[in-house]
Amino acid sequence: SPILEVEDLSFSYSEEKKILKNVSFKINKGDMASIVGKNGAGKSTISKLICGFYKPTSGKVLFDGRDIANKTIKERSEKIGFVMQNPNQMISKSMIFDEVAFGLRIRGYSEEEVKERVYKVLEICGLYKFRNWPISALSFGQKKRVTIASILVLNPEVIILDEPTAGQDFKHYSEIMEFLVELNKQGVTIIMITHDMHLMLEYTNKVIVLSEGEKIADDTSINILTNNKVIEKANLKETSLYE
Ligand code: ADP
Ligand code: MG
Ligand code: MG
Repeated sequence: SPILEVEDLSFSYSEEKKILKNVSFKINKGDMASIVGKNGAGKSTISKLICGFYKPTSGKVLFDGRDIANKTIKERSEKIGFVMQNPNQMISKSMIFDEVAFGLRIRGYSEEEVKERVYKVLEICGLYKFRNWPISALSFGQKKRVTIASILVLNPEVIILDEPTAGQDFKHYSEIMEFLVELNKQGVTIIMITHDMHLMLEYTNKVIVLSEGEKIADDTSINILTNNKVIEKANLKETSLYE
């Protein structure tokens, strides 16, 4: 059944240019989906609308069948976690434990509960042994895991990751993807924003293709692969790893 539905969504940052044009799609519980398209297609904008950073000009977002237009960013974040592209927004001197605990502490959880939940998530993310390290001591890939951990600690049912593998070498790319596959197996619905065709074909069961703010395809990856027109229009690139 659908957990997230985007219905006829349109959006503009300014009057001159429409950024999203009547985009609709459905994500089912347990999906590992990707939203693909070339730079500027509107991928990040759509995820920010879903998470409540901007209001759509028209159309709506449903979670579990309910319109979430009147939900705040904070309320949405407990259902739909958003992992931003750049992990460097973290304060590098803070400890990993505190970084991951932040979202729970601002929501008033007791320190006992914070500890229990953070330890569990750090364990899942392979970060437990680093819990007292400063963020600055971690590699890029490990920092990425910290950003994912701080989203997961709120127990969202869906996580949206903006370009999760961008700028990663092969080792970290595989680590991140294996980790996401594992989370998906544990029941977390995952949506990845990417222009990496390998990721889309290899890992996802559902693809939404955006081009200049319009959805031009929405199907399984196998059908997309055979549709060269869609591939061309979306200007998808395989990662350098496979060139
Ligand atoms: P993608 O993530 O697919 O690369 P974006 O959603 O970031 O695309 O951007 C879609 C379009 O919206 C682009 O033309 C971009 O220049 C424009 N855009 C993105 N963010 C803003 C903003 N804050 N203000 C104005 N225009 C923006
Ligand atoms: Mg971009
Ligand atoms: Mg983007």
